[in-house]
Amino acid sequence: MKRFKMLIDGQIVESTAGKAAVILNPVNQEPLAEVSLGGREDAKLALEAAERAFPGWSRTDPKKRGEVLHRGADLVRNRSDEIARLLTMEQGKPLRRAKGEVLSSAEALDYYAEEGMRNFGELVPSASERSRSLVIRQPLGVAAVISPWNYPVDLLSWKLAPALAAGCTVVAKPSSRAPLAATEFVMAVAEAGLPSGVLNLVHGSGLEVGAELVESSISRKVSFTGETTTGKEIMERAAQHIKRLSLELGGHSPAIVCEDANIDEAAESCVQRAFSNMGQICISVNRIYVHEAVAEEFAERLVKKTGKLRIGDGLDPDVDLGPMFSEAQRQKTKDHIADALDKGATVLCGGHEPEGEKFCRGFFFLPTVLDRMDHSMRIMREETFGPVAPMMRFSSDEEALRLANDSRYGLAAYVFTEDMTTALRFAERLEAGSVGVNTSSVIVPQAPFGGWKESGLGRERSRAALEEYMETKHIRIGLREGF
Ligand code: NDP
Repeated sequence: MKRFKMLIDGQIVESTAGKAAVILNPVNQEPLAEVSLGGREDAKLALEAAERAFPGWSRTDPKKRGEVLHRGADLVRNRSDEIARLLTMEQGKPLRRAKGEVLSSAEALDYYAEEGMRNFGELVPSASERSRSLVIRQPLGVAAVISPWNYPVDLLSWKLAPALAAGCTVVAKPSSRAPLAATEFVMAVAEAGLPSGVLNLVHGSGLEVGAELVESSISRKVSFTGETTTGKEIMERAAQHIKRLSLELGGHSPAIVCEDANIDEAAESCVQRAFSNMGQICISVNRIYVHEAVAEEFAERLVKKTGKLRIGDGLDPDVDLGPMFSEAQRQKTKDHIADALDKGATVLCGGHEPEGEKFCRGFFFLPTVLDRMDHSMRIMREETFGPVAPMMRFSSDEEALRLANDSRYGLAAYVFTEDMTTALRFAERLEAGSVGVNTSSVIVPQAPFGGWKESGLGRERSRAALEEYMETKHIRIGLREGF
């Protein structure tokens, strides 16, 4: 069985303890590969290598850094079929989605290769004729980047690309539960010509490798994507060194379907965003608020469209939805549905595993539409991370806004209406980092992405992400008397 290793100081290495873990396919739980399992010691070695590499990389011309990133993007694209296949087999998503994820990670490298060259400073209006004030932004040092299992390649690229473009050196820790495609992605970027130690990869658990990356005095920045509870723990530990933090955490996104919405398009958008990747997306549609006047028609279309989704092994090109990532995710989904049904919800479709031989060894679950929801139900308050679209009816825009904002999360929100005034009023008043108006697709490379409230701190994507890896410096220059 192939063993996926780590990258420390330019060398592909086993963990110091020589341990390894087996990664299983969620479709049938068959072993796919082994991965070296590092611990605190390996994380320390990687951090020290990144620290040694920092002076050289941070002073490298941004254009040269950009050239390496562009080459990395080309290598990732050249290997995208192979990386995507691994991604489907370790995570479950259909192959075409996996390929899209890998290509999107190459796009991130290309984007920051260019953006890194536009790290402009400022000449601040002077306080006196005898001085000038410059403001510059400089790479902040070693960045530790920690990513989850649901988009293991793309989410890693959102961190690596701006960090490297800014001139930081990096220690990356992907999820120990889906590390294979991420490893191939990192190796491709490293092969593009990065000096030793600039990009390091350590495998292992969050409790060991992750903890060392957060607690070490070497890492000046932690960029983390994962659960809100983990984010809180990281924040507490990072406080020890007043470490810079970017936290992309959980979400619980509302979708509001107004009386005047294009019902068919709204239903299509909600189906896409509620069920894609089996609902295991931080910006998934988690709560649908639909105006009572159009609720029946919307529900009918939602159920019809949901019924057309084909479930199976993600390697099958005809499949829309693969298995869930783990039994724990599936059980949580079932628990949330059972709680809602206990409290008066009704199932319009799904609600259980699909039947049949081909589903019995994987973590499959039918995409589920629930109706008659209220906010006493766990599913309307907690992140399910499963394929469920719960519907609740409203009678006024004020009520819809209040319900949508009644959450500790604030990552994304969606509104469907044909009226521009209604759209803008909602968009301005929804408490979320991204709002989709008549679309459930809110992530683009050029726009900032991140959460309000307990969904996180800082922004990824766009120019904003580059600044997350920089410190700002004011340089005041005294001038002599002159002409
Ligand atoms: P986790 O928080 O469990 O883990 C995320 C990463 O952090 C993993 O690499 C994990 O390691 C590591 N980790 C765990 N504990 C610690 C710790 N104490 N210190 C440092 N690192 C640690 O999240 P999941 O992997 O389960 O991902 C799902 C979550 O991610 C959902 O809540 C989802 O909403 C969120 N998410 C947010 C996004 C956003 O952009 N806001 C995007 C995508 C997902 P390991 O698991 O290997 O032990």
